[in-house]
Amino acid sequence: MSKTPGEATAYQALFSDLLPEEDIRIWPDSIGDPADIEYAVVGVPEPGVLADLPNLQAVLSLWAGIDSLLTDETFPRDVPLARMVDPLLAADMSHFAIYWTLHFHRGLHRYADLQREGTWKQIPYPEAKDRRVGVMGLGTLGEDAARKISALGFDVAGWNSSERHIEGVETFIGEDRLWPFLARTDILIVLLPLTGRTRGIINAETLLALPDGAFLVSLARGAHIVEKDLLAALNSGRLGGAALDVFTAEPLPEGHPFWSHPRIAVTPHVASTTTPRTAAAEVAIDIRRLRAGRMPRHLVDMSRGY
Ligand code: NDP
Repeated sequence: MSKTPGEATAYQALFSDLLPEEDIRIWPDSIGDPADIEYAVVGVPEPGVLADLPNLQAVLSLWAGIDSLLTDETFPRDVPLARMVDPLLAADMSHFAIYWTLHFHRGLHRYADLQREGTWKQIPYPEAKDRRVGVMGLGTLGEDAARKISALGFDVAGWNSSERHIEGVETFIGEDRLWPFLARTDILIVLLPLTGRTRGIINAETLLALPDGAFLVSLARGAHIVEKDLLAALNSGRLGGAALDVFTAEPLPEGHPFWSHPRIAVTPHVASTTTPRTAAAEVAIDIRRLRAGRMPRHLVDMSRGY
């Protein structure tokens, strides 16, 4: 079940190879009798579609973030929901996080302006060990990014709700430790899930807690950010720049101030996209587990929302 044209057909071909014993139906064209459907493999389905499947036993998300599924009031909350965990997704996300870390660290955002002016000017930068990178959310994606950025020699810390031990990465655990974490962070990378607790977490107060001239790299969900507070922090010069991959409204609406802001880099939700080949293999493992009477891996805790 997907809104992306052609994607469902690609998955059908992959599942035919990986799970030849299964009867694969594609929504809406070949769904047949809704009562036949036991497992739904979904991207972002139309609201209400899953509620209409009376014998549904599991929902397997092709996306790592499942917040948009849970905004559907009719989503069947008594059915196990598993999110996508795929090493390729983590590797791609880390590449993106590393790219923006290096971009801001080396002042590459400033050279574009200098080139337009025809100005030859070298911008000094600190040693990587003196550049403090902070990763919010040390889950599958955040931990991988923190580990790899640390391996490049940066001074990396992470903020998370439960304890994490990552070699070379200082951890700040729980809401009280958010403030010292922000105070030591020059480049802030957001890799939190979107939940009631994290919605709007990048706001006037948290942005003010960062050192002067810090940078924001927002890679998880747009609604983590209070947009007007981000614009105010950039316009006042308190924040040095922002790289935004995700937005409250996607596609980012025409004329939105982020499009043309000189200190904002916009990318269209591409930090890490699900690769059908590897994602289908992960889903196939879970379908075999379900057939064997076991639960899928990476179950979402409905009470936490991730
Ligand atoms: P995980 O569920 O593995 O990790 C989430 C982490 O955030 C956990 O370590 C969790 O801690 C921590 N966390 C959750 N709530 C809080 C909180 N209130 N305070 C502190 N820490 C908290 O998710 P992933 O790493 O797989 O993915 C993260 C997000 O990235 C996804 O939800 C999705 O929105 C986004 N994403 C974006 C993509 C893009 O292309 N831009 C692609 C893929 C994902 P704990 O375990 O202790 O609860």
